[in-house]
Amino acid sequence: MKGTFPIEKFAQLRTPFYYYDMELLRRTLHAITSEAARHEGFVVHYAVKANANPKVLRAIRQAGLGADCVSGGEIEASIKAGFPPSKIVFAGVGKSDWEINLGLDNDIFCFNVESVPELEVINQLAAEKGVVARVAFRLNPNVGAHTHANITTGLAENKFGIAMRDMESVIQRAAALSNVRVVGLHFHIGSQILDMGDFQALCNRINDLQNQLERLHISIEHINVGGGLGIDYQHPNRVPLPDFKAYFDTYSRRLKLRPGQTLHFELGRAVVAQMGTLITRTLYIKEGAVKKFCIVDAGFTDLIRPALYQAYHKIENISSEEPYDTYDVVGPICESTDVFAKQTDLNRVHRGDYLAIRSAGAYGEIMASQYNCRPLPQGYTSDEL
Ligand SMILES: *Cc1c(COP(=O)(O)O)cnc(C)c1O
Repeated sequence: MKGTFPIEKFAQLRTPFYYYDMELLRRTLHAITSEAARHEGFVVHYAVKANANPKVLRAIRQAGLGADCVSGGEIEASIKAGFPPSKIVFAGVGKSDWEINLGLDNDIFCFNVESVPELEVINQLAAEKGVVARVAFRLNPNVGAHTHANITTGLAENKFGIAMRDMESVIQRAAALSNVRVVGLHFHIGSQILDMGDFQALCNRINDLQNQLERLHISIEHINVGGGLGIDYQHPNRVPLPDFKAYFDTYSRRLKLRPGQTLHFELGRAVVAQMGTLITRTLYIKEGAVKKFCIVDAGFTDLIRPALYQAYHKIENISSEEPYDTYDVVGPICESTDVFAKQTDLNRVHRGDYLAIRSAGAYGEIMASQYNCRPLPQGYTSDEL
């Protein structure tokens, strides 16, 4: 089974480009908001770093999600797309002063703080403006995730967050500062997680922590468990939606929220990955000594995940119904890692055929670069084509 694309509309567009299926995006957003609404106190944010295309951001804002930002540029993009500052959170290990000031000037909901030096700088900058910044501490729960080593974030060895054993002293340090107010705890264990057991392990860790805090008479208004829910890269047509029900049910069953506490989520990939496709055209078929190469006009400058993480993306020849042949699908960039797939079966490919590189809506367009002086790929939505 192949995806359906308005291929006749593609002729007017320069390839490669991203095609965003807005109907699927809206279906995904509806599934998220309706599943989350079944649980009291659940609040969902969108991790802007997955895809900050303005048209995509606007659709997500319209569905009522908040924005999880990791840079000043993302805060600006979110405000431009209409997200209210009261729904913007700002995370990241290395926030610059101008970025913190931008967050303070807009009175964003919360800064997710990752170290004591950062806490002190936020306090100082807030004091200069005569305001009090709401902060959450990002704790490193030392919980592994069954995903690629480059995208685990919650292990003690990772650069993210504050070590659990330092939690108490950090909270006490914050209490002594007059221009920050601790409102939450924040966690994020990694990305492309499909095993609900990983999220259960995080819940267990947070439950222990809450018991500990209770003994210290410290109360916390909200818990933020980050994102990380994975998608089915193998079967984008059969499984276009992640299992949001299982995801939210896991937290609902396992995490013991205190009365009045809210539980915040920051989903990125699960929101936007399946609705995006990188459309590329075939330049040449080259018969190598031992295999056939399908050389396309997209490269890792357009979609870097295969080169960066050996990530799998399903590829379809949407111009041909001819019998299958086996190809290495490669780009034009002068690097040996510029390969989208090795030994993959495609309907026989000819020069000019459109290939659809699927599940590319997350960490695709946003990670594009201009290496080799290549133009950045454009993103088009199904609404506008
Ligand atoms: C990247 C990131 C997310 C989103 O991760 P996904 O795997 O795309 O859901 C959420 N929270 C934080 C802090 C992040 O850095």
